[in-house]
Amino acid sequence: MTDRVRVSVLGATGSVGASTLDIVSTAGKGAPQFEVVALTANRNVESLAKSAIASRAHVAVIADPSRYGELKSLLANTGVEAAAGPDALVEAATRPAERVVAAIVGIAGLPSTLAAVRNGASIAIANKESLVCAGPLLRQEAARSGAHLLPIDSEHNAIFQVLGHRDRVEKLILTASGGPFRSTSLKDMAAVTPEQACAHPNWDMGAKISVDSATMMNKGLELIEAAYLFDIPPERIDVLVHPQQIIHSLVSYDDGSVLAQLGMPDMRTPISYALSWPNRMPLPGLERLDLAKIGRLDFLPPDPQRFPALEVARAAAVAGGGAPIVLNGANEIAVAAFLQRRIGFLTIAQVVGEVLDEFLNGGSVATAPDSFEGVYEIDRMVRARTAEKLRLAA
Ligand code: NAD
Ligand code: MG
Repeated sequence: MTDRVRVSVLGATGSVGASTLDIVSTAGKGAPQFEVVALTANRNVESLAKSAIASRAHVAVIADPSRYGELKSLLANTGVEAAAGPDALVEAATRPAERVVAAIVGIAGLPSTLAAVRNGASIAIANKESLVCAGPLLRQEAARSGAHLLPIDSEHNAIFQVLGHRDRVEKLILTASGGPFRSTSLKDMAAVTPEQACAHPNWDMGAKISVDSATMMNKGLELIEAAYLFDIPPERIDVLVHPQQIIHSLVSYDDGSVLAQLGMPDMRTPISYALSWPNRMPLPGLERLDLAKIGRLDFLPPDPQRFPALEVARAAAVAGGGAPIVLNGANEIAVAAFLQRRIGFLTIAQVVGEVLDEFLNGGSVATAPDSFEGVYEIDRMVRARTAEKLRLAA
C-alpha cells in the first residue's frame, strides 16, 4: 500500500463512520496520508455536509433523494460535489480508493459493499448484515476482483490479527460483553425499553447493533460472520461472555496454544488496523490498556434461557443455505418494531425463531442462493412474513 490512502466511508454519519473520520482527521506522524473520496449517509444531511466539508471529501451522497436540494445548498461553493439516491451511492462506492469503509447498517449496505468489492477495492467491513446475508457470494466476488475483506467488527478484527497456521486452528472463540441485561432476570427483560436496550455498558453504537447486543443476536450474527470470513464451520466457533471486553476474541490451535488480541474497548483500534493493513498506524490519543488497573478479567458461558437469540442464530448457521438471510431479515424487522415500541424486547428473539422455523420447514431456503438477486428475494419474503406475523401479534 502506498503512503497516500484514499478512503471512502459508506455510512459516514454513524458510530463507525464517525470513529473512522476521527482517525482520518487526527492521523499524524507514522500514519498514512489519508484523502477522503466519498462520504455517504441515509438522511442526515447536516451531519454529512459538515463531515464532507471538514474532511475535504470529493463527493457527499445522501441516500434519500428527497434531501438532495438541501445537501446541494449546504455544499454550495465548498468544492464538495453533492449527489443523491441509491445509484449515486453505488457509484460513490466504486470511485477509486485504497479503502472503502462499509459502515452502513443492515442489508441496506449490501449493494454499495458489493459494488466496491466488484471494483476490486479493499473493503474495511463493519456492515456485518451484508456478510451474514451474502458472505460466500461476497468472498467469491472478492476472489475474482482481488479485493480484500478486512474486518472492522472488533471480534473479527482480533481474530484477523492473530490468525496464522490456518490448518492448525481448532476453534475460534468470540467474546461477548453480555450487553446491558447480562444479569437481568427474564421477567425484568420483558419490560425493557429501547432506551435501556441502547445503553450499552462498554460501547457507544448505533441503535440497531445496540439492541442486537442486548438480545445477544449480535453475537449470533457475528458467529455467521466469522464462519464466512474465516471459512470455518459454526460448530468450531464458541461464544464466551467476558464483561470487561478487554480480550476481543481468541484463536485456539491444536498444540494447546490460544492466541488473543487485547485492548481497551474502543472501535478506533480495529478500524485503524483495517485502514492501515498490512501495516499498523499509531493512535496517540487512545487510552492504553493497563491490566493492573483493571485487576481482573471475568469469563462465563452464555445463558441460553435468557438469551435465546444466540441459539436461534446458531441454528441458522448450522442449517446454512439461505437460513442466515432469514435470520437477518426477520431480526431487522423485529428490532425496528421494538425501537418503535410496537413489540416487547423478548418478542424479538421469539418472532425471529418462529420465522426461521417456518422457512426451514418449508424447505425454500435449503440451498444458498447463487446470486445477489436470490439473496434480495429471500430477504423480501422474510420481511413481509415477519411484518405480517407482528401485526397479527399486535
Ligand atoms: P449507525 O446506525 O450509527 O450508522 C449507520 C450508518 O448507515 C449511518 O451513516 C446511516 O446514515 C447509514 N444508513 C442507515 N440506513 C441506510 C440506508 N438504508 N441506506 C444508506 N445508508 C444508510 O450504525 P453503526 O453502529 O455505525 O453500525 C454500522 C455497521 O457496523 C452495522 O452493521 C454494525 O453492526 C457494524 N458494527 C458497528 C459497531 C459499533 O461500534 N458501532 C461495531 C461493530 C460492528
Ligand atoms: Mg462485534
